[in-house]
Amino acid sequence: MEGEFLKKNAEKNCPANPRLGKVGGQAVMEGVMMRSPKQMATAVRRTDDKTIVVRTQPSTTIRSKYKVLDLPLIRGVVNLVEMFKLSFSTLTASTEMMGLEEELQAEEPSKFEKWLEKHFGKSLLNFVSAIAMVLGILLAMGLFIALPAFVTNLIFPDELDGDFWMNRLKCLVEGVMKVLIFIGYLYFTSLMKEIRRVYMYHGAEHKTIFCYEAGLELNVENVRKQSRFHPRCGTSFMFVMVFLSIIVSIAFIPNVWGWLRVLLKLLLLPVCVGLGYEFIRYAGKHDNALVRILAAPGLWMQRITTREPDDDMIEVAIVATKSALHEEFADFEIPYEEEYLKKKEEAKKTEEEAKKTEEEPHAGEGIQNETP
Ligand SMILES: [Zn+2]
Repeated sequence: MEGEFLKKNAEKNCPANPRLGKVGGQAVMEGVMMRSPKQMATAVRRTDDKTIVVRTQPSTTIRSKYKVLDLPLIRGVVNLVEMFKLSFSTLTASTEMMGLEEELQAEEPSKFEKWLEKHFGKSLLNFVSAIAMVLGILLAMGLFIALPAFVTNLIFPDELDGDFWMNRLKCLVEGVMKVLIFIGYLYFTSLMKEIRRVYMYHGAEHKTIFCYEAGLELNVENVRKQSRFHPRCGTSFMFVMVFLSIIVSIAFIPNVWGWLRVLLKLLLLPVCVGLGYEFIRYAGKHDNALVRILAAPGLWMQRITTREPDDDMIEVAIVATKSALHEEFADFEIPYEEEYLKKKEEAKKTEEEAKKTEEEPHAGEGIQNETP
């Protein structure tokens, strides 16, 4: 099935198609972020009244400013750093756009929350999210670097350290363990309800990009028919990187163990990231046996990281795409979040005023009744 999909994709891969690779995207909380060379747009469905709201910002990369950062290998590392920064900020933005904060504000805060607010205010929130990020990075390093190294050292006794082939086998075992940990991590997170919804939006993002690249009209029906497995996905990128790091460790550091090995691996990480990015770029423009073989594991991984979206999610992804490509979809009216909030505020005001005028004639009676 994957082969067939890649073949179909290859037909679209002719360089004559200017739409190919023009938009990229990312799933967020209850929404999708799409990015064109001009601007990026995050579309989120609010949890309160289910309206879709959009935030846009110009698409910028530091690589266009400093040509040295756009050189092969370097651009991959720069891209990854920018991608991490961007995903973090769009994820944060999406949680704001959902409208949960307003819902929470409507509820009476507990004594403990009031105390926290009074003593720490906004800085506490920033502090907590900074700690969460550091813990996340530590967890990732522990899971994907320290744990495999530790377990491999337990399996292979020290006496064999000098043996050339045994060392290479040790590297292979460590690498396979990494892949299994990575797959397990993705699988177990996909069992959580919120993450599963993000993976559904991820599916909607891929389908919408396929639909756009095929030159079809962007509507729910056309998007639903597309494949949810996309060869230029970030998941494929991660997998190619893990794969490369195994090859690099077998080729370059088979005889070093312990902390020095961890350090060397960290130093070689940018090399793997750079090479992985070049591969994904190449894979997006070519179709041959090598590309198909190397892209296959990444596409299999998408069986975990994407799910069939429902029509409401597809709708959000379409809004994000049209907003990001506004020069192409000039007729489309972007449902800006700002305008939505303004309208909501106005509606609230008129409602309050209507209530006041309604209550006023009875106000006097109320007072009379209360004073005997
Ligand atoms: Zn993807």
